[in-house]
Amino acid sequence: MIIDHDRVDVSNLHRQVLFAEADIGRPKVEAAAARLTAINGAIAVEALPERLDLDNVERLFGRADVVIDGSDNYATKYLAADAALKFGLPVVYGSATGMEAMVTVFLPGEGPCLRCLFPEAPSGWVPNCAEAGVLGPLVGMAGAVQAAEAIKLLVGTPALTSLSGRLWLVDARDMGSRQLAIGKRPDCPACSLDPAGLELAGTAPAVHEIDHAQAQALPGALWVDVREPDEYAAGHFSGAVNLPLSRLHTGEPGLPDAEHLVVYCATGMRCRAAAPLLERAGTGRVHVLRGGYRQAAVD
Ligand SMILES: [Zn+2]
Repeated sequence: MIIDHDRVDVSNLHRQVLFAEADIGRPKVEAAAARLTAINGAIAVEALPERLDLDNVERLFGRADVVIDGSDNYATKYLAADAALKFGLPVVYGSATGMEAMVTVFLPGEGPCLRCLFPEAPSGWVPNCAEAGVLGPLVGMAGAVQAAEAIKLLVGTPALTSLSGRLWLVDARDMGSRQLAIGKRPDCPACSLDPAGLELAGTAPAVHEIDHAQAQALPGALWVDVREPDEYAAGHFSGAVNLPLSRLHTGEPGLPDAEHLVVYCATGMRCRAAAPLLERAGTGRVHVLRGGYRQAAVD
């Protein structure tokens, strides 16, 4: 089963090895399933074009033996890790940003879990691959290590030792790799409790999303570009004011009054942090432009 709600973008191609230029615009799960069955026609791949969230996680994980986390945001990583713990599934965890990648395995009831490692998801805006950039091949390296760990878990031979309790790290700056021992936290907010009673948190952004046509139809809307000044200078929607998220964090935005605010960034990720801050400023109803400037530029 492959779960993802996104479509292939040209900016994915340097790191997401299952996609080609011809796939741009296709649902990622559909393109990935086609590529995987082209490699091996004997396997059954189920493509699920859904965002993993509270309302589907039990149904989807209930049919899995291993969860391989290839997601790009903390909300999904924590939901996947907590739900896997609750339902007794191992997780092959991986992440890559900038020049660094890490992989480990969380074995429920045996090894540490994600919250033993990092008890809470970082708050505020944390850049993901799409926002902060990543050295393309690193994502494939992490993915290959994750695939190896998943195969080992599924084979289940005792001679094979999983990465449970160890964090595999690689730094592409000098291609140094090392392993950190990670232990179970006695006061872990997840695995030290009864897993069955674990409360899961959703991943859906608590913002009001609208598409470009809906945004244009809003009367007297003020468009707010929360990207950095250099991104704004390289191109923006006409009439938009630039209020970088980095500035929203530190001080009063000083926005002109408007009934509606249409907030956008490159892809929509930064808006998750910017929208609540702008809502708190209370100048107008806050709407987030779905897909951000990049999507509108493609459309
Ligand atoms: Zn734990």
